This record gives sequence, C-alpha cells and structure tokens, in this order.
Amino acid sequence: MYKKLFIPGPTHVRDEVLQAQTAPMIGHRSTAYSDLQGELTPKLQQLLYTQQPVFIYASSGTGVMEGSIRQAVLKRALVTVCGEFSSRWYEITKANGVPCDRLDVEAGQGFTPDQVVEALGKGDYDALTVTLNETSTGVMNPLKEIAAAVRAKYPDILILVDAVSAMAGVKIEFDAWDLDVVLASSQKCFALPPGLTVAAVSERAFKRAEQVPNRGYYFDFIDMLKFYKKNQTPATPAISLMNALNKQMDDILAEGLENRWARHLTMAQMVQAWAVKYWEMFPDPRFYSNTVSTVKNTRGINVGDLNKELGKRGATISNGYGPFKEKTFRIAHMGDITPADIEWLLGEINDILGLK
Ligand SMILES: *Cc1c(COP(=O)(O)O)cnc(C)c1O
Repeated sequence: MYKKLFIPGPTHVRDEVLQAQTAPMIGHRSTAYSDLQGELTPKLQQLLYTQQPVFIYASSGTGVMEGSIRQAVLKRALVTVCGEFSSRWYEITKANGVPCDRLDVEAGQGFTPDQVVEALGKGDYDALTVTLNETSTGVMNPLKEIAAAVRAKYPDILILVDAVSAMAGVKIEFDAWDLDVVLASSQKCFALPPGLTVAAVSERAFKRAEQVPNRGYYFDFIDMLKFYKKNQTPATPAISLMNALNKQMDDILAEGLENRWARHLTMAQMVQAWAVKYWEMFPDPRFYSNTVSTVKNTRGINVGDLNKELGKRGATISNGYGPFKEKTFRIAHMGDITPADIEWLLGEINDILGLK
C-alpha cells in the first residue's frame, strides 16, 4: 500500500512532479539543456532572494557540505553542533583535514547569536557552519539573527549554512542576510526525489575558494562558475531530476513564496498544539522548527507499533533519531504536505492510540 511520507526526507512527491522526470533525454552540451538550466536559475534565485549564482549539483546534500568546507577554510572553522546532522559537518571537516573546533549545545537546544559570536572570539576563525534546521531534534536556529551578529563583528568569516531540511520551506534571504553558502538537497522541503543539491554561493566565497589549494575537484566553485556562465555544469548533470525541479519551481512560485512559508508555519503550529495537548515538545520553545516537530514520548507508547498501524492506514512518521529512538518521534510537515494532510494524520494517531 502507498504510504504518504510524514518523515523528514524523502518527503511526499506529487505525481505531476514524478511525471516531469520522464521527458526524453537531451545532451548536456545542447542548447536545450542550457535553456533548461537557464530557466531554472532565476527561479532558484527568487526562492533564495539572491542575485548570486545558484548551482545545481548531481549529489546529495552531504556531498556539497564536504565540497563547501574544502573550499571555504584557510585558517580554521567553527562548527556549531546541536544534533546528529550538525555533528556530521564536524565529521566531514575532520575527515578532510580542515582545522576546526566544535561548539556544542544540548540536544533540543539551538544557538543564540551571542553564543556564536562569543565562541568566534576564542579562536582565529575564517569560517562558521550553521545548521539552519537540525532534523534530528526538530530545532530551528535563528539564522537571520546569528548572521547579523556575526557580520557586525566579523565581516570576513564565511557563513556556511546547511539548509537541507529548511530551504523551500522557510524564508532564507541569502543576499540581505549576507550569507556565503546555503545548500539543500532535493528530497526535503523541495518535495522532489533525492539526487540534487541546490547551493547559493557568495562573492566572498568565490574569492576565498580562489586562494584555497587542493580544494577538491567535483564540487569546485570556481569550475562550477565557469560553466554556470554558459548555463552548464562541468560534469554530467541529473537532467531528469532537473526537469522535475523545473516543474516544482513553477508550482512553488505559483503557490507564492509567502504563502508557502505561511503554510509550513501553520502545519508546524498544528502539530505543536497537538503535541502540547497530548505529549510534550522535545525542543526548547525558542527553537521550534517550521518543518519538523519532535515530540517527547511521554505516554511511553511503542513508536514502531504506532508506525505499523499508521502504515495500514497509508502514512509513515519517523521514530526519534539515534539515541532518541522510542524516546521521541518526529512528524515532518514539509514540502507539499498540506494542513489537511496534517489534520488527517493527527486524527489517525488519536484514533489508533485512543487519545481524546
Ligand atoms: C537530510 C539532512 C542532511 C543529509 O542530506 P543528504 O541529502 O542525505 O546528504 C544533512 N543535513 C540536514 C539538516 C538534513 O536534514
């Protein structure tokens, strides 16, 4: 049976978007391809409120996280860690031999601008990583405020943002917030199949990359930029997925960006209200996420069993991540999921568990 996905990736993909992938293949050095990329770019720039180049990589998000960290650091990176995904950026940085320190907060917490600025004062840093939405705990960091505080004091520090579970679900003003790299893969709020990553890159990041020796090959911003100017990519792009992205971007812009952000907030508030009524929310209320809610399993239910029952009714939610399995569960409300879907899902859970 088909199960609608209320998990934080891959998310539910609409049939029209799946269909868009079946267009006949074209050569990636053809005019038809350049037209496709040339059509897509301004739509993505609109999504991210930017005039800067927006690259499309055939890669999951992790690949571009790795690529970015390799190109962004000459001295030392500060990696903010508030859960499993932000911790991945620390692992990646280490694995590439890039000097770094981690700044940790407890699970369920996010970062305040003051915490970040204070930590940046303790070392000779030239890059900072921020995970906009920590998918493992359902924490959304105040990126706009963090960026403003960092910029006020450190104009040259590159701000690298993992926006994997947030981009296309919440507003990210790349230019106004003066960010340097913001990346997200296709299978979360974009509501596309996995396989693509979209990344906006600043002038400051290009300048830094030029100075970095051994910055890697596949994700090289400078090489990407050279081809971007011809509406191409250095290596073969994932053309079918880009057709799906093109269709989806039309639909996103037709919905209206402000409407899309508002819809995500509405769904988040529905789940939060339900969670507060019957359980407890896991994160600190200052950091509730607009795209995924983590709920404390205060009733001691078996989350695996709940999911089995939900499966029979055509839905899947997520268990807690890693150490929080069975202690929490997560309901994603991102991409093309609607408030009506959420109402239905919560009704089914209430029915299964006898919650009134
Ligand atoms: C899903 C996720 C990732 C991993 O993305 P992939 O596309 O699977 O590489 C990284 N960061 C966050 C915050 C995520 O939610």
